Amino acid sequence: MPNMLVVGSVAYDTVDTPSGKNENQLGGSATYFSVASSYLTDVAVVAVVGGDFDPGDRSMLSDRGIDTSGLAQTDGNTFRWSGSYREDLNSAVTLETQLNVFADFAPELGDSHRSLPYLFLANIDPNLQASVLSQMSARPKMVACDTMNLWIDIARPALVSLIAQVDVLMINEAEALQLTERDGVAAAATSLLENGPSAVVIKRGEYGAVVFHRDFTFAVPAYPLVSVVDPTGAGDSFAGGFLGYLSSVDDTGNDAIRRAAVVGSVMASFAVESYGMDRLRSLSASDIDARFNAFVELTRFHPLGGGQGLPVRPQFGN
Ligand code: AMP
Repeated sequence: MPNMLVVGSVAYDTVDTPSGKNENQLGGSATYFSVASSYLTDVAVVAVVGGDFDPGDRSMLSDRGIDTSGLAQTDGNTFRWSGSYREDLNSAVTLETQLNVFADFAPELGDSHRSLPYLFLANIDPNLQASVLSQMSARPKMVACDTMNLWIDIARPALVSLIAQVDVLMINEAEALQLTERDGVAAAATSLLENGPSAVVIKRGEYGAVVFHRDFTFAVPAYPLVSVVDPTGAGDSFAGGFLGYLSSVDDTGNDAIRRAAVVGSVMASFAVESYGMDRLRSLSASDIDARFNAFVELTRFHPLGGGQGLPVRPQFGN
């Protein structure tokens, strides 16, 4: 029985990165999210694919224990996205978006999905995200959402009203600035927190992520990889690690949220090591533990003991 639901895109992506071009790789926001979270929790996907969807890709998801009963298949083509990271590895330039079967998708949640306690509204049309949220029979314990510049450009009112209803907003730095018209992450997050969510997670590519929560601010670095092959899916994999962890321990407290941000960074670091999902889908428990422990080491420092302050020279007073 799943305990988390995700709605978002399932796609074939064509990406151009400094390592070269790769065509028609399995992608999509719901796909990266569900593959990353499947290491930690039971997740169900709501999305649509076309007649061209490879049955092997569906089996890859279901073989991992992902519930694909909400992955509809209709006539037409699967969503396609193509993007380039040639200019900047931290943010994709979208070359083409073909909504295809998503253009007319109106998901109807099954009974077993309506009452799941954790819900992720992955990047897709905010009207679709809102439709899924409105079909939940009880308010989930935690609702999180993601979005991107396309929806800020063409569906801003629907997006703003959705954000008012979620607990956690996950958003890229550039998109947070665009949405709020502020010029720094802290100012953007403060403005977003005034509009509903109790936490805003700002993703900053190779500079990591910052959780702006009503009660605290927590920053986690990105793992310093020597080679990033394909940044596609980093944000969704971060979200998959973050919510996968919270749903598996069934804890939405502040300490759990801090640890979840580290688990998110662990999953994102694997996602970018290869094209598409090649690395992310082939991890072992010891790979994940080793990377988590590397983050512990990366961020470890001792506070000053015994109420001591820094050795500031006395001329500066107390
Ligand atoms: P990210 O985690 O932000 O790198 O997301 C990458 C994924 O988002 C790709 O696999 C794309 O298929 C998907 N994507 C790109 N544009 C859109 C869009 N407008 N709506 C939904 N998904 C998208």
